[in-house]
Amino acid sequence: MIKTIIFDNNGVLTTSCEEGALQGLVDYLGVGMDQFLLVWNLEAEAVDEGKITTKEFLENVIDRLNPKCDFKMCQKYYWKSHEAKPNVREFAKKLKKDFEIVFLTNFSDDFWVFNKKWKLDEIFDRDKMFISAEMKMRKPHPDIYWAVLEKIGKKPDEVVFIDDKEENIDTAQKLGMHPILFKNLEQVEKDLESILKYSYA
Ligand SMILES: [Mg+2]
Repeated sequence: MIKTIIFDNNGVLTTSCEEGALQGLVDYLGVGMDQFLLVWNLEAEAVDEGKITTKEFLENVIDRLNPKCDFKMCQKYYWKSHEAKPNVREFAKKLKKDFEIVFLTNFSDDFWVFNKKWKLDEIFDRDKMFISAEMKMRKPHPDIYWAVLEKIGKKPDEVVFIDDKEENIDTAQKLGMHPILFKNLEQVEKDLESILKYSYA
């Protein structure tokens, strides 16, 4: 029986790089989005796994893309990025009445700075919020999925996993979770309905 819904953050509950969340920073650095994403994603692995701090991460990005840029300004643009999606937040809140809702994000150690504007801890219980930089591992590696399942005491087939990245969905599927690739809220609502119908039939 499905008891738990795991939510991804960027691209699901808040906007992603692909949705232009970092455009302000890209414009300030004066580079193209493709070039930016190449460097950003390359450095993101280390910061998401807590191997480097957000400060070191941003310094590396600035160094590689435009060393003349001011660190404080870049930090300001970074903190301004990734806006909340109120409709997905309401959806999660509604699900909480009948399900355990869990939050799993690949994010830097600046997560709690961002969360001052997102206030996701008003929806998700603190012990059900998992941040990659704190766990020292990141999606799509199976270890982080198993670690979350162990912490919440659930088996993979008791869990629906919502994420906007195919590679993260692939791991969830391989482990036996019920995956939903996020495109928009309407599609997620439909997919969830059919998963629930199927699993209770
Ligand atoms: Mg995402």
